[in-house]
Amino acid sequence: MEEVEKAQSSLPGGQTIFAKILNGEIPANFIYEDEHCVAFNDVSPQAPVHFLVIPRKPLAMLSDAEDCDEQLMGHLMLVASKVAKEQGLSKGFRLVVNNGQEGAQSVYHLHLHVLGGRQMQWPPG
Ligand code: AMP
Repeated sequence: MEEVEKAQSSLPGGQTIFAKILNGEIPANFIYEDEHCVAFNDVSPQAPVHFLVIPRKPLAMLSDAEDCDEQLMGHLMLVASKVAKEQGLSKGFRLVVNNGQEGAQSVYHLHLHVLGGRQMQWPPG
């Protein structure tokens, strides 16, 4: 199924695949981890470099984040930038957060996509 189709049939709630990655039920190679978040490569990369940064806190989506999550949200962005540098994305990268059905979100555990290693186009689809 295409990502957008998946997003149409995905709903918030239940244990997500990312929750299973966090608790070790599904193996993943973390390219970064700390007490607040982890980063790992996307299983279906859309660019030569495509990794995800996810909080350990089970927030379903960005629009569920509250004032108390302000520091965590900033941390995720800084980690995205640091790991992008480590991954060699010195010429730039794109950060994407798909939020909800029309945002084409398919996994309801907040995640930042970091894509790079090729020229990005604008506008996105
Ligand atoms: P989104 O459409 O923004 O919810 O993105 C979900 C992303 O998770 C997609 O890019 C998928 O390819 C990716 N994904 C799904 N399952 C896994 C997995 N087991 N390991 C790594 N990435 C995954």
